[in-house]
Amino acid sequence: MSTSTHAFWLAGRRATGDHTFDVTSPWDGRTVAAVSVPTDAQVEEAVAAAHAAVASFAATPAHVRAAALDHVARRLGERAEEIARLISDENGKPVKWARGEVGRAVSVFRFASEEARRFNGGEAQRLDTDAGGTGRLALTRRFPKGAVLGIAPFNFPLNLCAHKVAPALAAGVPIVLKPAPATPLSALLLGELLAETDLPAGSWSVLTVPNDRMPALVEDERLPVISFTGSEKVGYSIMDSVPRKQCTLELGGNGAAVVLADYASDEDLDRAASRIATFSNYQGGQSCISVQRVIADTAVYDRLAEKVVAAVEAQVTGDPADDATDVGPLISEDAAQRVESWVDEAVREGATLLTGGKRDGAAYAPTVLADVPENVALAREEVFGPVLTLRRVDGEQAAFAAVNDSKYGLQAGVFTHDLQAAFRAHRALEVGGVIVGDVPSYRADQMPYGGAKLSGVGREGVRYAMDDYTYERVLVLTGL
Ligand code: NAD
Repeated sequence: MSTSTHAFWLAGRRATGDHTFDVTSPWDGRTVAAVSVPTDAQVEEAVAAAHAAVASFAATPAHVRAAALDHVARRLGERAEEIARLISDENGKPVKWARGEVGRAVSVFRFASEEARRFNGGEAQRLDTDAGGTGRLALTRRFPKGAVLGIAPFNFPLNLCAHKVAPALAAGVPIVLKPAPATPLSALLLGELLAETDLPAGSWSVLTVPNDRMPALVEDERLPVISFTGSEKVGYSIMDSVPRKQCTLELGGNGAAVVLADYASDEDLDRAASRIATFSNYQGGQSCISVQRVIADTAVYDRLAEKVVAAVEAQVTGDPADDATDVGPLISEDAAQRVESWVDEAVREGATLLTGGKRDGAAYAPTVLADVPENVALAREEVFGPVLTLRRVDGEQAAFAAVNDSKYGLQAGVFTHDLQAAFRAHRALEVGGVIVGDVPSYRADQMPYGGAKLSGVGREGVRYAMDDYTYERVLVLTGL
């Protein structure tokens, strides 16, 4: 086998199957690597090993799991530049953003090692507050619901795998991870670092299973918990196919940034425009919380629009390997063609194109539109490209109603200095997170993260995923 063929990880050990697929660079189409595909028998072996490890892995001492997670965090940090280049190659993400992603994955493993030390400290509850409980005491501990199937998307190929794997290992829950077919290389490299630890063999696998073979894995009863991050379409089809399983779904969004009337000084609007321009184009807009909709009070709209267009035009597009590049290609030419067709449709239906609107292969130019009609895809769906729409509203209530006028509800940003308005936004907005003073694109990896409405079910964030993967079991002691 050539050195550029990547093995997958079967129950903690390197393995190869009987054929490979190629990973290509979205920027220039070159083959980055060939990746081995597990056979059905190898998938079976990995699932059986995960299932068999459930009880024994939960019983491993916390310090062993914490030390393994610390090791991975340290090694990710040591190899950060190499991993950032790998992410950039397979995903087309500008290398400066890829470096940020590696840094976040380091944090996820650090948080997980800390949580591993705290987890299952147990809680005692006296039961003698009621006559029937006299002489009794309850102790609570959390146990695995079973092995987890983690399914990850292409857009944060390392960190979203970290968000599945690190909490599972911290909680002592075996996991079978399935990375996205376009971007498996950083997940396979993560496997290399996990293999350097003392984690028991059955506790983790990274399997590059093709999509058409996923239904069998999804339906396998030995994997009762599914943690999925990806599109609404695939996520809900999985949940519908296994209604008795626990499915955490981290899905799409069309994130809104609201600018209220009080956020009005030149300095305020420069800041809002800069954050909006950066985070609508951040990795080509291929983030579930990128800014797609800007909703601005009429008092600031015209000045903000001018500044947003200037800031978007200042974004540097080009080769993702170049340190200066802000915006690289989308994941594929097909993806860029879809974005192009949505922008064209909006313009045909009466939207005003303020800048951008051009495609070159898989690259789509940072684009801003105003007056976008309500009924077009760009106004209603998740664009997942470097495109933002500007909408003028009159007053706070209209702004909040515009945010909620979406089938999605992942996060929203609200630019205001008014603390009362911040609390009103928190109450009014139907989203998983309200970010005051910034764009919706802010995520700290320890905080609860997930969607309302069709943006998802359940929460990630290290501690929250650990809770999701486990259940409380009470021990009642009698005769005390
Ligand atoms: P996708 O739904 O196409 O694929 C996600 C994963 O599902 C991949 O690993 C894919 O191989 C796998 N998959 C495909 N078909 C499957 C099947 N039938 N059964 C099981 N697995 C299957 O999504 P994508 O294009 O990789 O990612 C983009 C989407 O992910 C966007 O909608 C984005 O908003 C969303 N996303 C959400 C979050 C979040 O945390 N909410 C984060 C990042 C991305």
